[in-house]
Amino acid sequence: MEKLLVPTICKVDKVIQETPDIRTYRLKFREEGLMEQFTFLPGQFVEFSLLGSGECTFCIASSATRKGYFDCSIKKAGVVTADIHNCIEEGDEVGIRGPFGNWFPLEDIKGKNLLFVGGGIGLAPLRSLIQYCIDNRGDYKDFTILYGARTSADLCYKEEIKEWQDDKSLNIVLTIDRPEETWHDNVALFPKFWKR
Ligand SMILES: Cc1cc2nc3c(=O)[nH]c(=O)nc-3n(C[C@H](O)[C@H](O)[C@H](O)COP(=O)(O)OP(=O)(O)OC[C@H]3O[C@@H](n4cnc5c(N)ncnc54)[C@H](O)[C@@H]3O)c2cc1C
Repeated sequence: MEKLLVPTICKVDKVIQETPDIRTYRLKFREEGLMEQFTFLPGQFVEFSLLGSGECTFCIASSATRKGYFDCSIKKAGVVTADIHNCIEEGDEVGIRGPFGNWFPLEDIKGKNLLFVGGGIGLAPLRSLIQYCIDNRGDYKDFTILYGARTSADLCYKEEIKEWQDDKSLNIVLTIDRPEETWHDNVALFPKFWKR
């Protein structure tokens, strides 16, 4: 964007409750044509502002290869993130500055085996790279995602993980820190674990 310190207004297109304290906000620029001009690479971040509350840094959790929107996954951590969780709903408007920061070495990883290792909200920046690599799958060899969280409820992107598990060209390894005995919705992600 041209004006570094001036936020551009985005509309919240969708809010996805990923875990008890993480939500993904799918954003689109309000002004026609701006979405097409917004270019970013996996690893970059934006400054996300909520008028009257403040501004926070969030990585872009989706890939620019998925056109027409970008995602920020936000964990409730303190003052502003709590306000975002409590106040922002679909159709609301927020301010965005960016993209800023470095990106993953996309050229260097071409032709290589890929191993993504992440935990909890740490999958957010990796998801941008994972989506980018899936959308350019032919450029890479083995593709493994190792993802963990404290409990199965704390795993982000559960619907997308199911799609990754269904893709036979990807190897998905999930882990949780605490043993679980209760039968709930996330069982589908752990077929081997639960069959034991
Ligand atoms: C490059 C970058 C990318 C990021 N990407 C993401 C992302 O994709 N998703 C995401 O959820 N977060 C991300 N973060 C973290 C996110 O920016 C912070 O969680 C957010 O700014 C917190 O703002 P807040 O006002 O809600 O919290 P604050 O009120 O500032 O508090 C944050 C936490 O720190 C504690 N805290 C505050 N001050 C102190 C202190 N002095 N001593 C000890 N503890 C203190 C609070 O109790 C709270 O737990 C990223 C950060 C960076 C730098």
